[in-house]
Formats: sequence, C-alpha cells, structure tokens
Amino acid sequence: MSDFPIPVVAESVTIHPRSVKGRFRSFKSITLYLAYLVYFILPWVPWDRPVGQDQAILFDMTARKFYIFNLVVHAQDIFWLAALLFLAAVLLFFSTALVGRAFCGYFCFQTLWTDAFRSIEKLIQGDRVKRIRLDKQKWNAEKIIKKVSTHSIWLFLAFWTGLSFVLYWGYAPDLLKAFFTGQASSVAYFSTFGLMATTYLAAGLMREKVCQHVCPYSRFQSVMIDKDTLIPTYDPERGEGSQGRAKPTKLLKTIEGRKEAGVGDCVDCGLCVQVCPVGIDIRDGMQYACIQCGLCVDACDTIMDARGWDRGLIRYESENGLEHGKTHFFKLRTYGYGLAVLGAVAFLLWSMSGKKIIEGTARQIRSPLYVTMSDGRILNRYVLKVDNKSMYDASFDVSLKALTGAVMDMGEIKDIYLKPDEKQRIIVKVRRSRADSKTKNTSFQFVLTPTKGEVKEPIYIDSQFISP
Ligand code: SF4
Ligand code: SF4
Repeated sequence: MSDFPIPVVAESVTIHPRSVKGRFRSFKSITLYLAYLVYFILPWVPWDRPVGQDQAILFDMTARKFYIFNLVVHAQDIFWLAALLFLAAVLLFFSTALVGRAFCGYFCFQTLWTDAFRSIEKLIQGDRVKRIRLDKQKWNAEKIIKKVSTHSIWLFLAFWTGLSFVLYWGYAPDLLKAFFTGQASSVAYFSTFGLMATTYLAAGLMREKVCQHVCPYSRFQSVMIDKDTLIPTYDPERGEGSQGRAKPTKLLKTIEGRKEAGVGDCVDCGLCVQVCPVGIDIRDGMQYACIQCGLCVDACDTIMDARGWDRGLIRYESENGLEHGKTHFFKLRTYGYGLAVLGAVAFLLWSMSGKKIIEGTARQIRSPLYVTMSDGRILNRYVLKVDNKSMYDASFDVSLKALTGAVMDMGEIKDIYLKPDEKQRIIVKVRRSRADSKTKNTSFQFVLTPTKGEVKEPIYIDSQFISP
C-alpha cells in the first residue's frame, strides 16, 4: 500500500512573531495595560456604601445581589443581563460590519492574554530569532532555565488571573485570606484552578489555535463583512506592479527604477509575515485565520518609512476602496445595527434610572372576596407587601385614596418601618358602609407616604374594593 501523500493532520508549528513598533502595536499595548489594570485592580477598589461590603464591584451570590459602584442589581433585574448580552452581540455585529474583526485583534481576552504571555516569553528568551534558536538547540542548562522560568511566570499569571476572577465574588481581603489558609469554599478553589488551567492552555500553549479552531467567530465573520468593511489589506496593484514583487537589488532600490522594471513596491522582505501572530501572509489575500490586529500594517509602514516611500502598501482598506471605488459606511445594514445598539443602550439606561428602590404590591384576599359585617358594613382584606431595595432605612405612613368613607385597620401596626433589604407583609382590613359601597367594584389606591429614607415621593398601589 502506498503512503498517503497528504498528512491528515497538519504538523503543529510554533509561531514566534517578531516584535514591531507602530500605531496599531501602541494601540494594542495601551488596550492591554488598561484591561489588566481594570481586571486585576477592580476587586481591590473600596467603595463606601451603607449596606453590603465596601467593595466597588462585588457579585454577592449569598445575598443574590451584584454591587457595581452605586448600582445594586437584584435577582429580579436579571433581564438587564439579557439586555447587556444583546447589546454586546449587536455591538459586535456593528463593529464587524465597519472594521471587521477589530474585537479579535485588540480587545478579546484570548488576544490580550496571549499578548501578555508572549511579552513574558520575549523578556526571558529574547526576540523571534533567539526564541527560534532556543527551540532548536539541544536541552542544556540555559534552555532548561529559560523554559522553566517562562512557564513558571505563565503559571503564576494564569493563577492570579483565576484568583482575581474569584475575588469579584466575595469581599476580596477576607476571601484572599481564606483562600491561602485553606478556609475558602471548594467552589473558590475549583474556579481558580480551573481558570488557571484554561488560561495557561489557551494563552500559553494553544495561542492562535484557539482563534482558528475553537472560537466560532472566525468561521461566521465572513457573513458580516462586505465590500465596504475596512480590514487590513495588501494592495496587490501597488505591491506587485506588472512583474510582481522583487527584492531591492541595485537597480530596484528606487521607486523610479522599480516602475521602469515593472515591479511593485513590495520588496519581499517578509516582515509582514514575521510579525503576524497567526503566521499568515496577508499578501495571499483575506484569510479566515487573520485576527485583523494591524501588526502587518505597522511592519510594512516601517519598511516604507525606511525607504522614504508612501505608507499604506498594507493598510486598513475596503474591497471597494482597493478597486478605486467609494467605501460606503452609511447603509441599511450599518444603520440597522447602529439603531439596535442605540435601542439596547436606551433601554438599559431607562430601565436602570427608573428602577424602583421601594416596591409595593397589594393582593386582595379572595376567600371570601368580601364579608358583610353584623352592623351592615362591607369588609375587604388585602395582603400589603413592601420591599425596601434601597441602601437606607425607610418608613411610611399608609393611607387610602379615592375610597370614600373607608376605614383602614392594620392591627397593631401603625406605620411601616423597613431596614435596607427588608420586606414587610401586612394584612390590611378595609371597611366601608353599605351606603358608600353601592358600586360592585371600586378602584382605589393604597398610598405609602415616606417619612424617612431615600424615596421622597408617595408611592401609589392600585387595588379594588368589592361590594355585594
Ligand atoms: S495578517 Fe496577521 S498581522 Fe496582519 S492583521 Fe492579520 S493577523 Fe494581524
Ligand atoms: S512588509 Fe511590506 S514590503 Fe515587506 S514583504 Fe510585507 S508587504 Fe512586502
């Protein structure tokens, strides 16, 4: 039997991208610093609040509340999460339609952590050429020390990433102490070490393979981009000329010389390939593996600057732009995504600003609906529930509106007094003379008039008085 000519599984090659300086590299670095600053520092930021722990961001599962600075999210507000997910999805569609996979190239966790892991690797093992040489050389003391140091720091960063995530779910100083004294819950250990393992695996060992083989976004991004989407693009007309690309030999050092020879501006230096974190050649056209990080743009700009030629042989460009047409940013699809983004933001703002911090309901007791008393008056009973979701004590006087001649009885309770997060359930009896109860159903309102607390305006709760 002859050997199968094509390997079934491609050989795995470690990519060692070369470092590059430029606009997009700087933007990526700034994004990385900011993201790390926010992620690792936030659980330690104190925040003074009357109830709950003094931690700016705290997801308190025991109290079923999320504290986000001054905002308190209760379990009932879970639809905000749905709105946030919707917003994230349409933002992704919107940005992809305009600038392709910019999210992948600059903001995705995988990109950020892989970038950080690569910086550590570069710090210990040196730049591309040194790393490739180290990989090829036999195991000796130098190789062992460098490899062990790299993987140890990676493991520490992966561990701190996992632990920092867990610190958002409890009061960080107490949780940290409990963690290192073996007093934390098994969920905390499981989450920390689980995240540590996945971070080490994804950012240290798998890197670009996660984007290519695990993340579904690379597969369906092509349906979201079109001829007007700006993506890093090689300009083949300029780069290849009529005779293709060529090294800058003696006669091909100047633009004029190259034009005369019919070759393009690409000097075939390969720098754009060497800096690419996913190891592709942008000159072969758009590829699904490209995370659109713009590093090849920086690389090519460096070469063009060094030769004193115009930048932009590789640039953010649309297919229409490349064909000398006009790039249309404003069209039905982008308007649609833009409107969906605005709609989701408006809904969230409206919903958050209108969040009721005192909630009151009145449920009529229906068995029986009413009672005719011995003196002829009609009695209805209600369960009045008041929930204080504010962070302060609150008290209310209770009265009735639009129910002529009615007398209210709350037993021994004179007014409602609630501590933060406290609920109260009161049986309220309402009596009316038969003369006042001529209508079968009379709509009225319970009125909670605040005497203390954050809420200053009266709260009206709709109900009905039922007569024979
Ligand atoms: S080809 Fe490589 S370097 Fe260029 S944008 Fe795509 S992933 Fe980045
Ligand atoms: S960096 Fe620019 S000049 Fe060099 S090979 Fe890539 S496209 Fe050609």
